[in-house]
Amino acid sequence: MKVKTLRCLKDNWTFLLHFPSASATTSSKESVVSIDPGEVTDEMWSELKGRELEAILLTHHHHDHVGGVEALLQKYPSALVFASDRDATRLKFLGRSPHNFSELGLLTTELPAALSTHSMRILAHPIPGHTEGQVAIEIQEGTSPAHVFVGDTLFAFGCGRCFEGTPDQLFESLQFLKSLPADSLLYFGHDYELRNMEFWRTWQEEAGPELVTQEALATATSGRACARLDFELQRNPFLKIRDVESFRLWRDRRNHF
Ligand SMILES: [Zn+2]
Repeated sequence: MKVKTLRCLKDNWTFLLHFPSASATTSSKESVVSIDPGEVTDEMWSELKGRELEAILLTHHHHDHVGGVEALLQKYPSALVFASDRDATRLKFLGRSPHNFSELGLLTTELPAALSTHSMRILAHPIPGHTEGQVAIEIQEGTSPAHVFVGDTLFAFGCGRCFEGTPDQLFESLQFLKSLPADSLLYFGHDYELRNMEFWRTWQEEAGPELVTQEALATATSGRACARLDFELQRNPFLKIRDVESFRLWRDRRNHF
């Protein structure tokens, strides 16, 4: 499986998972799965050309993560859409509710051999806080490091805001992400890294060296859609905060930055 990262809307990331055909001799099209299509850009249409979109997986219901679903379904009406239980009850695309992730079995039985031969494991972990129904979508192929799509819960050098959940829930969800294998590849919903770096640089002195170091600030860059978990554990202050009271304080400061 290959992950293709694309930009959409103002600063969103969206992802296409490419599954090579099982056999080079068959003329079957390459299968593709979309994650969080906030918008279908010309670049995405050209990536899909000659390929078959099999499924759309949604980390949460916000429009900038689902805005392109209907356009994709118009072109690929048999694609299966999956969302969390909570979001499946409040989203409708072309008049139909998405499947919830407990029905992911549909995906493995309906996807062509190209997918089922890749010994894929797809899991949706509830990580409430940004929204009630937010999930982290974990995809693992064989013994390779897991690909984990975290939506708007964690960002490079930062974390998401609480729109529906509480800071306590978000803190717990970050503890869950921290518990994943250190070589997991995290894929973020937005390109906020430089803004996060500015925030931490502004508050560096107050935060102290346990949370923010000069070396960590120097790692910030634009255009990073994916980072290894151990890299973020080393530098992301929101992952270094140990108690929920401090987390509430820093999350609140970041909200007003
Ligand atoms: Zn969101």
